[in-house]
Amino acid sequence: MADESIRTMGELRRRPQVVTTAEDATRMVREARAAGRRVGLVPTMGALHEGHLSLARAARAACDLVVVTVFVNPTQFGPNEDYSRYPRTLDADLDLLSREGVDLVFTPVPDVMYPAGFSTYVEPPAVAGPLEGAFRPGHFRGVATVVLKLFLILPADVAYFGAKDWQQTLVIRRMTTDLNVPIQIEVCPTIREADGLAMSSRNRYLSSDERRRALALSGGLAAAAARFERGERRTETLEQAIREQLSSALVTDVDYAAVVDPETLERRDRTGERSIALIAARVGATRLIDNRLLG
Ligand code: AMP
Repeated sequence: MADESIRTMGELRRRPQVVTTAEDATRMVREARAAGRRVGLVPTMGALHEGHLSLARAARAACDLVVVTVFVNPTQFGPNEDYSRYPRTLDADLDLLSREGVDLVFTPVPDVMYPAGFSTYVEPPAVAGPLEGAFRPGHFRGVATVVLKLFLILPADVAYFGAKDWQQTLVIRRMTTDLNVPIQIEVCPTIREADGLAMSSRNRYLSSDERRRALALSGGLAAAAARFERGERRTETLEQAIREQLSSALVTDVDYAAVVDPETLERRDRTGERSIALIAARVGATRLIDNRLLG
């Protein structure tokens, strides 16, 4: 009896198979698809939290083989960003993924993705231009390049992304359409802490004081949503509601606090019936982003 339950627990917590070469990863996905299995892909940079795990769960519910990638992609970080100190916690990540029944983890070293002589990049679509694109030049070029490479290395049926990175989902959808990449894109809701803070691998950088002040992001979005629900459609007024929350929490280093069209990211003087509020701001040294659909 005891042996049985240990074995059962062992099976429940079976670690995913870990592969580090593109050849092994491609072979395993191809074999699964040739056997008629539906393959789901969840690209991440590791330092996993419930947001990432919700994507793995969505994949597990809809697919036969679930592949998670863990790769801190150097080409999407600017020269003064946190690439070198980005948290790397592979062991803990594998523990979390084994509880979600993930089958395969692809975790290449940078040389596997960008060997000597690498020089081809994806020119991202127009929707990559404003907001993150304006404040992080080259970011979406790196994202589009690595995501396309992952789609080619791991030719899955469907790939899962979080609405937390709203503009990224638009960039990836547009890229897959424009370049005829045969993969379905699923976008899953933002997972938040109980008090509303959007989960992020970067939250672990926050001191306890910063963690409290970081609530002004979700608070600002909630303030804009409340005004929107009461009928406010003046973009400037909605954005002002966000900025008030930020400044009252002494979050003054704001890259943008914008209300725009959720598909084109265009800003109008008056918002449409469906809009999105997006924020990027530094709390202390940590740059956080968040967004919320209005309407
Ligand atoms: P990252 O590791 O930050 O590159 O994120 C990998 C994927 O997880 C991306 O598709 C993100 O949008 C998604 N993600 C990150 N944080 C969250 C969250 N709080 N809720 C839902 N998805 C998330």
